[in-house]
Amino acid sequence: MYKYIFGPVPSRRLGVSLGVDLVMSKTCNLNCIYCECGSTTKFYNRRDSYIDIDRLIEEVKDILQNLTPDYITFSGSGEPTLNKDLGMIIREIRKIYSGKIAVITNSTLLNDSDVREALEEADLIIPSLDAISEDIFEKINRPIEGLHAKNILDGMTKFLSETKKEVYLEIFIVEGINDGDEELKKFVEYLKDKKVTVIQLNTLARPGATEDIKPASMKRLTEIKDFFESHNLNSVEIIKKYTSREEFPKYSEKLEELILNMLSKRKYSIYEMVELLQRGEVELFKYLNILQKEGKVKIVIENDQIYIKN
Ligand code: SF4
Repeated sequence: MYKYIFGPVPSRRLGVSLGVDLVMSKTCNLNCIYCECGSTTKFYNRRDSYIDIDRLIEEVKDILQNLTPDYITFSGSGEPTLNKDLGMIIREIRKIYSGKIAVITNSTLLNDSDVREALEEADLIIPSLDAISEDIFEKINRPIEGLHAKNILDGMTKFLSETKKEVYLEIFIVEGINDGDEELKKFVEYLKDKKVTVIQLNTLARPGATEDIKPASMKRLTEIKDFFESHNLNSVEIIKKYTSREEFPKYSEKLEELILNMLSKRKYSIYEMVELLQRGEVELFKYLNILQKEGKVKIVIENDQIYIKN
């Protein structure tokens, strides 16, 4: 039984991703209304040594005997940068693993130069930024006392100007809270001179920490994407999964039929499907997520690869 690692999970963004939890459940300095881990139980803003590093390294060594993930990803049930040993842990893992390392962070500690230094040890950083205005930040991220939107923006600005690594900046959209025109203009104003690899628009897929919030519709996310692009923010993508055919603008029943027909004979790796169907991985995952939700296909990891079977 592993204590600190979870997965692997098949991910369109990260391929086969092995998760590492660097704080114990659920330690965070935010209590986001959309958090899939539920409400924050340990409200901390202090960097500390939360885990037994020797045990973590043993667990990673053990799982790597049977698996070579595309990414080891620091995320889990709390904020990984609250672990003050983050940089050292990444360096230790690099001694036993040659693949890529990603860190998913809520960006609250980017003002701290030690945190920025630790993040540079990773290959990919996925920081979130859900609000520019203080009142919206309070509503959506519900921070620990003393933490303000301005702290995050200052830290983010420093981080983005210094980092040499890939950055997928994630904005989590909650309809009626951070998707108003004024806030979107503020996002554009803030992001227009920042360098990121891609801006990813996400929304709720599962119940969050509170029940009364609504995921943004695909239509609204597309409008936001178009708005950002019309203001010269490049590389904006929607990472919400399609959950129904109606949401999918150009859903091809023919392609769905082809996918199901292929899978009735045998399982295929995602790469084989891309090659045989002459469609990109992103597009195929849209179909596969819908079919998986309906129980018609399974997306699994076997021999370090993502396979699709029925
Ligand atoms: S920052 Fe992440 S872990 Fe913390 S409350 Fe928000 S979603 Fe949950």
